[in-house]
Amino acid sequence: MTVERRNQAVRAAVEQGLLSEDQPVAALLDVAGIRESAAALRAAFAAVTDAPVLHAFAVKATPLVPVLALLNAEGIGAEVASPGELALARAAGVRPEHTVLDSPAKTTAELREAFALGIAVNADNPQELARIDALAADGVASPVGVRVNAQIGAGSIGALSTATATSKFGVALRDEGAREAVVRMYLDRPWLTRLHTHSGSQGIPLARMAEGVAAVYELAEEINAAVGRQQIDTVDIGGGLPVNFASDETDPTFAAYARLLKERVPGLLDGRYGLVTEFGRALIAKHGTTLARVEYAKVSGSRPIAVTHAGVQVATRTVYDPVSWPLRIAAYDGKGLPSTAPETVQDIAGPACFAGDLLAEGRSLPRLEQGDVIAALDTGAYYFSSHYGYNSLPRPAVYGFGVRAGAVEFSPVRAAQSVAEIVAEAGGDRADALLG
Ligand SMILES: *Cc1c(COP(=O)(O)O)cnc(C)c1O
Repeated sequence: MTVERRNQAVRAAVEQGLLSEDQPVAALLDVAGIRESAAALRAAFAAVTDAPVLHAFAVKATPLVPVLALLNAEGIGAEVASPGELALARAAGVRPEHTVLDSPAKTTAELREAFALGIAVNADNPQELARIDALAADGVASPVGVRVNAQIGAGSIGALSTATATSKFGVALRDEGAREAVVRMYLDRPWLTRLHTHSGSQGIPLARMAEGVAAVYELAEEINAAVGRQQIDTVDIGGGLPVNFASDETDPTFAAYARLLKERVPGLLDGRYGLVTEFGRALIAKHGTTLARVEYAKVSGSRPIAVTHAGVQVATRTVYDPVSWPLRIAAYDGKGLPSTAPETVQDIAGPACFAGDLLAEGRSLPRLEQGDVIAALDTGAYYFSSHYGYNSLPRPAVYGFGVRAGAVEFSPVRAAQSVAEIVAEAGGDRADALLG
């Protein structure tokens, strides 16, 4: 999102009353920006291959039905990893042939549903494949692949590194006998036509991601040679393009990654293989902004602290692991205009009842005052959409916005959670349940 577009949206959000006493947090999504990113993704791969490419958005990044429907309208399908995510994709109208089911813990019921719908499935491990064998006795209508872990190593964020030696995901290719076992899986199952990898999210350097894709391509070639025909017709390269949280620049771009793949793995893009991608964060993160009112401004141990309504409930990763997940914060005055107050080093705190609930610590920003507004930037993926129910703080409302004839128009994407809903979800209708 450009600074101008964001400033215009924040101003309009404040003027139109999106922030209030009842709803001191609101989340904004830049609809035009999401469309631009979707178009950039399609163009990036169209420029390097003539083969069919399914771009499946990793639903966990922004599990909001209108967002999935917007992406669907832009030709982007869905990568789902739970019955809930599959239901969201279906509610958004994503077609089965544009849907891919991953997840390391699929139940038999989930597999059965996926096959009934004709959704592509990537099996995580040999036990899952054995389950699929049983279900496939009557023939499999869904494309099925196996997820492999090329064990290319971790990125800078351990919790998001899926290609370590001991990662929980996929068949670890470099383990003793594993490669031969994978080849055998395909020799024994003519209907196994895909191969899948996802080397990790945020913090994996591009070259490392390309290395993982190259390893999977080489395995596909080896399997097809062993079988004696092009049994693997589609390679799913996962997602994981990192997002720049340090400035407004989009870096790296989808185009840069596609070009790197073309250079590093030309055989994958020469038209013999269809592709599936599963990007999440890189499609949406930079198009989301979380707004919150500054309820109080105080000083503690001579440190100025802005007590806001945005904390761990909307920025869980940042609060628990601020070193891996720093967020930029922008300061606005009570009218939604960029703050012109003198800069000072201060903490931006959230509303939750633990000392570590800080969006930013010791950050130099225009000095925040009571009634000001802060914006947590680049929060479109894995932030406000992935609510954490600590302190029974409500899920904030989410609004899409667009600019028409110079004016910002908001479309509600998700209503804020009400206090009544919080009570109901907390067993409010069975208060006597434990009283014997
Ligand atoms: C999380 C995940 C993705 C998306 O990762 P991003 O970093 O958001 O692009 C894609 N594929 C799988 C299997 C995932 O688990």
